[in-house]
Amino acid sequence: MALDLGSASRKPDGMPHDHHDHDHPHSHLPPDPALRVKALETILTRKGLIDPAALDEIIDIYQNRIGPKNGAQVVARAWADPGFMHALTEDATAVIAEMGFYGRQGEHITAVANTDDTHNMVVCTLCSCYPWPLLGIPPGWYKSDAYRARAVREPRKVLADFGVSLPEDTAVRVWDSTAEMRYLVIPQRPAGTEGMSEEDLAALVTRDSMIGTGLPREPGQ
Ligand code: FE
Repeated sequence: MALDLGSASRKPDGMPHDHHDHDHPHSHLPPDPALRVKALETILTRKGLIDPAALDEIIDIYQNRIGPKNGAQVVARAWADPGFMHALTEDATAVIAEMGFYGRQGEHITAVANTDDTHNMVVCTLCSCYPWPLLGIPPGWYKSDAYRARAVREPRKVLADFGVSLPEDTAVRVWDSTAEMRYLVIPQRPAGTEGMSEEDLAALVTRDSMIGTGLPREPGQ
């Protein structure tokens, strides 16, 4: 699986100027992100800096074994227990760590609860900071230039693109994540869920509702 990293910028003699090279004069890696990742992995493995099996393990943990279900458990407990909700919004990092959810990209987490007055939405305008131990690996759109720019500039339009329309008098508050602070949105508990178990409540909590680009499912939905 060796990759020829020179091929992307090499041009046969006499060929017209390559437009791509013109746009990216410093690019020595293939333009496709998957290829670039593979190329970097190859180099780092050859230099003995990483172990591919360990990488696969990390990806599997965050993609399949964690996913957003940890976050859903936290939200469901907050819905079911006002004392827990209070503690969570006071010091999410401590409360979440007590539940066993900590690790990479989860060192400092703030929980922001949606109300009738305020809807919270999370972005990382700089890159793709995200609360991994609660939500797993961020979706592709979260890392996109479009989302990162538009979430701040026109959050209501972004919400509309996600199929979310809020009452006119509900304010949208956008939280910009950093390596120092990541955010978990606590969506509002859907109507008609009185008496439901925490487990059943957790099934209503979607990943997007914890980023703020979606709402939880209605019971029976
Ligand atoms: Fe980031």
